Amino acid sequence: AVALSGVNKWFGAHHVLRDVDLTVAKAEKIVICGPSGSGKSTLIRCVNGLEAHQAGTIQVDGIALTGVPASVDAVRREVGMVFQHFNLFAHLTVLENCTLAPIHVKRMGRAAAEELAMGYLDRVRIPQLAGKFPGQLSGGQQQRVAIARALCMSPKVMLFDEPTSALDPEMVKEVLDTMAELARGGMTMLCVTHEMGFAREVADRVVFMDEGQIIETAPPAAFFDSPRHPRTQAFLSQIL
Ligand code: ATP
Ligand code: MG
Repeated sequence: AVALSGVNKWFGAHHVLRDVDLTVAKAEKIVICGPSGSGKSTLIRCVNGLEAHQAGTIQVDGIALTGVPASVDAVRREVGMVFQHFNLFAHLTVLENCTLAPIHVKRMGRAAAEELAMGYLDRVRIPQLAGKFPGQLSGGQQQRVAIARALCMSPKVMLFDEPTSALDPEMVKEVLDTMAELARGGMTMLCVTHEMGFAREVADRVVFMDEGQIIETAPPAAFFDSPRHPRTQAFLSQIL
């Protein structure tokens, strides 16, 4: 569903992605971890065209991101993104946040968009909050709205960038549970997270990045129990 080959990116003179090769098969769940500044967010942002890469190829569902605006639009229609800070529209209700893109991008009728949105709000277990504004919700609830909002565009792939790291501890589980349920439903997922319990249970493969490179990729059991690269070992010994 996603294929990166020889991807390189610079911010000015700063080389932040170095020859990144990564494929994510349909329904596969990948967790990306690594130290701060290693390029995890940049990688995720390149996959939906929020950042442009300068060398290599990125394909999402067969569509190549070429830098042409139309290719970015085409890829973004296939990809849902959930950020650390929920990025909801504060002046819109939960339901309006969810129906905005289906109505304006997909040209769906309001009634159909609302029905669709209520279905996803139900799936993330907050249908009762549809009429509230984001400011009236807890962080965990807001993040579940962000997930429902992304799902309303029927994405082929969901990207997550540290979706729980801005949450109070007691709200982390509800968001991880929502993500695990999405995973069980067969979604293709690329998740940056330091929630290693989630990685162990949900990921098909764990990717370790350092200094813009993919250092190691392995199924979770092998990754956590017998990491091969010294930098992976050092990273894991710090966080586990
Ligand atoms: P963290 O775990 O702290 O979120 P990360 O692995 O997501 O880190 P990135 O945010 O991808 O790391 O950043 C990779 C490198 O690129 C860092 O050195 C960062 O300072 C730099 N960088 C990121 N965004 C920009 C930008 N817009 N302009 C210039 N440099 C940037
Ligand atoms: Mg980041």
